[in-house]
Amino acid sequence: MHQWADRYRQLTIGEASRHGLYQSSWTPYAREPMDCLIDPSVEQITCVFGAQTGKTTLVLNMFAYMVDCDPGPMMLVMPTEADVHYMHNHRILPMIESSPQISRHLTGRADDISQDGISFDRCQLYYGNAQVSRSIKGRPVRFVALDEVDEMEDTKQGDPLSMAAQRTNTYPNRKIVKTSTPTWQKGKVWQSYLKSDQRRLWIPCPHCGKHQTLEWEHVRWEKDEDPEKACESAVYPCVECGQVITDAQRRDALADGVWVPAAATVDD
Ligand SMILES: [Zn+2]
Repeated sequence: MHQWADRYRQLTIGEASRHGLYQSSWTPYAREPMDCLIDPSVEQITCVFGAQTGKTTLVLNMFAYMVDCDPGPMMLVMPTEADVHYMHNHRILPMIESSPQISRHLTGRADDISQDGISFDRCQLYYGNAQVSRSIKGRPVRFVALDEVDEMEDTKQGDPLSMAAQRTNTYPNRKIVKTSTPTWQKGKVWQSYLKSDQRRLWIPCPHCGKHQTLEWEHVRWEKDEDPEKACESAVYPCVECGQVITDAQRRDALADGVWVPAAATVDD
């Protein structure tokens, strides 16, 4: 699936820090979650990503791919109505307008595009607001994505994540994607992650090649410094060889990173 995005997905100014043709090499760790969309063995994908790491772009690429290659009813759920409007106006419409491979699936009918969703030639995208249960309940969908789930709160009708998932029940090939920057351990994204196979990104040390996950407890910095100096002095030594992995080396190593379930390790 990521190959489709590399070929057809255009990013506009304002949508991302870079514009032009999307390149999955910018965020190579997003390739596997995206490719899960077309992996029949995967039903649910939970992305626990930091802020500004491309998780919304990842989700939008999935919608775009479905519109072009695998049409079916879809729903995007955001935490608030303002989030829905922002996503529609500033991310989804620019994505469609700038990417001919997607815009060719618009029919030109006046009421195809609204703040409630978009009708394409072969499928429908619905928007859901997690604060309004009736906007989530309704017609069945095959693909549902919920963005920033830690900002979603239960309503009187229940958990918006469960309600959204229920809409996919009639599809044996359904996909449910949840993404969020994690806020706390009892948050919705972490609780969802705990029910998964708990993949983490292992990257190879640029010096000795040993694969490892990056852990906060391994960061070293000068004590008794002011915060700015402490930040400048921070280094990350490899757990195997002890040599310092710089920020630039860490970014380069992401290209060779592998997602590994919690129950497995990497044979170096
Ligand atoms: Zn090393």
